[in-house]
Amino acid sequence: MSAELAEQVRRRRTFAIISHPDAGKTTLTEKLLLFSGAIQIAGSVKARKASRHATSDWMEIEKQRGISVASSVMQMEYRDCTINLLDTPGHQDFSEDTYRVLTAVDAALMVIDAANGVEPQTRRLLQVCRARNTPILTFINKMDREVQEPLALMDEIERELGMTVVPFTWPVGMGKVFGGVLDLRKDQMRVFSPGEDRVAGTEEIVQGLGNPALAERFGMAYEQAAGEIELVREAAPEFDHAEFLAGHQTPMFFGSAVNNFGVQEVLDALVDLAPAPGPRAALQRTVEPDETKFSGVVFKIQANMDPAHRDRIAFLRVASGKFSRGMTMKVVRSGKTLRPNTVVTFMSQKRELLDEAYAGDIIGIPNHGVLQLGDTLTEGEALQYTGLPFFAPELFRSVEVADPLKTKQLRAGLTQLGEEGAIQVFRPMMGSVLLLGAVGQLQFEVVAHRLEHEYGVKARIMPARFNVARWVTCETGEGAAADEKELKRFIDGNSHRMALDAVDAPTLLLEYAGELRAIQENWPKIKFHALREHA
Ligand code: GDP
Repeated sequence: MSAELAEQVRRRRTFAIISHPDAGKTTLTEKLLLFSGAIQIAGSVKARKASRHATSDWMEIEKQRGISVASSVMQMEYRDCTINLLDTPGHQDFSEDTYRVLTAVDAALMVIDAANGVEPQTRRLLQVCRARNTPILTFINKMDREVQEPLALMDEIERELGMTVVPFTWPVGMGKVFGGVLDLRKDQMRVFSPGEDRVAGTEEIVQGLGNPALAERFGMAYEQAAGEIELVREAAPEFDHAEFLAGHQTPMFFGSAVNNFGVQEVLDALVDLAPAPGPRAALQRTVEPDETKFSGVVFKIQANMDPAHRDRIAFLRVASGKFSRGMTMKVVRSGKTLRPNTVVTFMSQKRELLDEAYAGDIIGIPNHGVLQLGDTLTEGEALQYTGLPFFAPELFRSVEVADPLKTKQLRAGLTQLGEEGAIQVFRPMMGSVLLLGAVGQLQFEVVAHRLEHEYGVKARIMPARFNVARWVTCETGEGAAADEKELKRFIDGNSHRMALDAVDAPTLLLEYAGELRAIQENWPKIKFHALREHA
């Protein structure tokens, strides 16, 4: 442990924005970057969204469906903090990728469209955060529109998400008569004025929540807000930082992202309330973020992210120590060493070469298949971080090439897409046809599209008879040799429905969920897993 490391850890915040598509995630991301000074011109994140469409073929799918299938990382400096913002794909078919991204953050910012309230995708993502006790801040967006009453929204969030909501601000009016927000902690009102390009510190502020000038100026809207605040103060508990950190309480803010309103409070709250990187669990031990030795875990792999580079980038979250350019790292799973000299960071719009990184930072390591999802990298210690989820797929297809001469390209493409986690690829123990497994139908379409455009393979994706997958392990209680023997007996006895996944983990494939019970009864020492947690 060193004082410098501890200080670097203290000043880091790593978070993701979660929301249902169209709630305003892209807009808010852009405003956050704008406030932190990471970008100068409004519109550049949107522009990036657009140019990605223009330059990347497979993003055509995204364009067609108006969804975000890629996620990325942005780093910004704000006050004395380095903030890492991880983008999450919005469409539910990509939730697997999103789950893994959420393992790499220390807090989440939930954006809710005030007209729509809690929407399905928000609910789903929140479940993942809740399972991990990730602290959540809530931003209620689009107050410049005719939306739901704030009390109703607050009630809905509490009910739907099972958390206590503590308002930090409260809106005065909405839509055409949206007057601004009352800041319950600073005892002041910030007056709303529409406008895209307003910068920080230019808002009109009226001191004193009970200031008679407010009643005079905002009339009914103010009276109503003041009444609601009374109610809320009686019913809602005080903000409790420990409860927030445990994921039981969420501070709530109101605003309008497109008008730059309420955004800075959220950024300040992230710095003031969200936790710095903490200890992380490995199979062997718990690792502190300010230990001197570097370690990190790969939570995302993306191929051909930038068509100009045609490379594959492994996204690694630094868990401890300091990463410096040119250092040698060990891939614990394979024992291989890696000395990348082009590690990149993600400063807002463009990739930049990285000199150093600390716990909480995300670094991108270009590689050619050396790194897989869930890999732990260290300076030499045998550590394996846990908690990166792979879910048993629920949809299956078989895949063949139209042109048999392209079989090799198909395998290469699928191996890469499998390593990226875009799809799960299974090699059945009998037969030569590969099986694809997904949690969402759209994944198959994206894979077919990417195979064609990135690997030059026209694939035939056809129905498969399987509907259930379970990873199998064995626990005889009689030692490793006995476990291995029993597992082999199981695999041999079921070879017609066994396959190996991307990391050669044996997987049982079934047509009906009902079959599983009978198999379990016959093989009491075999364990069947719907979730695999590390490479
Ligand atoms: P995303 O899909 O969650 O990334 O949502 P976007 O940021 O792309 O926003 C979806 C739409 O809502 C866009 O047309 C935005 O201009 C609009 N929008 C975002 N914030 C606000 C807001 O505060 N008020 C209003 N009226 N519209 C907004």
